[in-house]
Amino acid sequence: MSERTLFGDLPRFAGGLQDLGGGVHAWMQPNGSWGESNAGLVLGDGESLLVDTLWDLLLTRRMLDSMRDATDEAPIRYLVNTHSDGDHCWGNELVSEARIISSRASAEAMGELTPADMARFARLGSVMLRLGGAPFVGPGRLRAAGRYLRRMQSPFDYSEITPTPPSQTFAGSLTLDVGGRDVRLIEVGPAHTAGDLFVHVPDARTVFAGDIVFLGSTPVMWAGPVEGWIAALDRLLELDVDTVVPGHGPVTDKDGARAIRDYWSYLNSEARRRFDQGMPALAAARAILRSPDFAAMDFAGWDCPERIAVNVNTIYRWLRGEAPGIGPLERVKVFVAVAQLAEELAGAAPPALHPPAGIRPLAPV
Ligand SMILES: [Zn+2]
Repeated sequence: MSERTLFGDLPRFAGGLQDLGGGVHAWMQPNGSWGESNAGLVLGDGESLLVDTLWDLLLTRRMLDSMRDATDEAPIRYLVNTHSDGDHCWGNELVSEARIISSRASAEAMGELTPADMARFARLGSVMLRLGGAPFVGPGRLRAAGRYLRRMQSPFDYSEITPTPPSQTFAGSLTLDVGGRDVRLIEVGPAHTAGDLFVHVPDARTVFAGDIVFLGSTPVMWAGPVEGWIAALDRLLELDVDTVVPGHGPVTDKDGARAIRDYWSYLNSEARRRFDQGMPALAAARAILRSPDFAAMDFAGWDCPERIAVNVNTIYRWLRGEAPGIGPLERVKVFVAVAQLAEELAGAAPPALHPPAGIRPLAPV
């Protein structure tokens, strides 16, 4: 693992394979920003279960190589995708000999955004950047959006990916026998996406929470409703676990789940209030972000606060009674709003690209 994150920042937590004890490993990608997703490996007697693949083939291959010592003894028999986002399933083809399992809702949603769409999206960033410099286009908005899109996709390579969907789906819950130990899959979506699920390993008192838990970076809610996300967190808090592996961010415990629950409770009431006042979504996101209330909250220091533009937009869509799915055009519009907020925040107080002098990065793994 390099001494920098995929985005070239200093890591705030160790990356690579982490032994969590009890035959459970986590694959960590600091700092949990766009596409810096975590995965996991649960070892049984003579076979294993992989939790998620990564956003491209190179990253997934690197992860599988580092797991080789364990998987030579216990080959991967099951691959479980916690949800439909590409950063959790676009490496599936490299584990195609395993039985690939996800919720039915996730399997259906996996076709909505393909690697080819994402590559087009990356090219769109370059076009926006060029057009944004032209005198006939608005005051730098497109340019900001283009810059943001290009940066968020720069570490990833979406070419050559063959989407490989689950070969088995379920609804509700499913218990698997992985070499003599139970692993429970618990569907908790729709929340972050249409079909989120937890991978619960009872004998290790561990849960892989997928993107229901982000830690240290602001969560993104594409599907909603926000009440569904809060209910999913309540479900997690009822589990008999000590260790929570988030979809993005460092390994945590139930306090990590409580922190993100606080974010959603706060945002839900603040967004609703502004919706009732007739304030547009982007203006509401900006007002919340700039409020002294927000600044006083623990989550005010999380990375990517501009994602609030996605979150308020989704809360508004549900309040307007619109269909929960988000189309490609609306996704682009929301990204323009996200980029605009990011630009405004950078203008207000330039974010520290690196920790202040004296803070040493974590040892690379
Ligand atoms: Zn993710």
